Amino acid sequence: MVELKNVDVYYKEGDVEALNDVNLRINDGEFVFIVGSSGAGKSTLLKLLTRERKPTNGRVFVNGYNLSKLRDGKIPKFRRSIGMIFQDFRLIPNLTVYENVAFVLRVTDRSRRFIRQRVPYVLNLVRLSDKARAYPSQLSGGEQQRVAIARAFASDPGLIIADEPTGNIDPELSYEIVELLKDINKCGTTVLMVTHEHDLVKYFGGRIISLKKGSVDFDDYIGGNDG
Ligand code: ADP
Repeated sequence: MVELKNVDVYYKEGDVEALNDVNLRINDGEFVFIVGSSGAGKSTLLKLLTRERKPTNGRVFVNGYNLSKLRDGKIPKFRRSIGMIFQDFRLIPNLTVYENVAFVLRVTDRSRRFIRQRVPYVLNLVRLSDKARAYPSQLSGGEQQRVAIARAFASDPGLIIADEPTGNIDPELSYEIVELLKDINKCGTTVLMVTHEHDLVKYFGGRIISLKKGSVDFDDYIGGNDG
């Protein structure tokens, strides 16, 4: 569950009220698009959810953690409950596809047996089993993002945050990326996807949260065209 209660974020530098009395609740298992023009506060919202920033006022809850009270020493454990997907993929260039996914499981001390089962499972989910031995530079942008999705999902996090995941991908392949995130969502993971691609949002529909000048300007469900 993700919840913001009366959240303000004020940046002293620049004297900017980036978020202003934001109240939100996203239940476990939801899929939500977060939209808004540049400067609306989307990145600031994501920084709150990953505890890169604390709110100036108000409270933030993510995956059962009260982030206002979270001690610094507990931040790494908290962050492991979130899978992140970025616009620029952020794969490790000198590791194979398989190793990129296995890496996140190794650093969290998962057993070898678990890793041997889990990595092929998530690579199959994103339909990249045949690329397991390839390096990121040998893949298209769309394929690299599919690896990043597999990596984000590998540790079975409660929440996946995708920050403009289709921003560097051919438009016709963007739909496939959202479909994969939808598949992962069907496994029970909450997915928040920040995007500025209105066509995608209209096509898939669902819950849309729109930020405008630091406030929630729209938070409702729209019908999609994907049948
Ligand atoms: P978005 O991601 O929707 O483009 P941001 O959250 O990045 O919006 O920014 C919201 C507002 O806060 C903007 O006016 C931006 O200039 C300002 N802002 C963002 N980060 C900082 C910062 N580190 N210092 C000062 N102002 C910032």
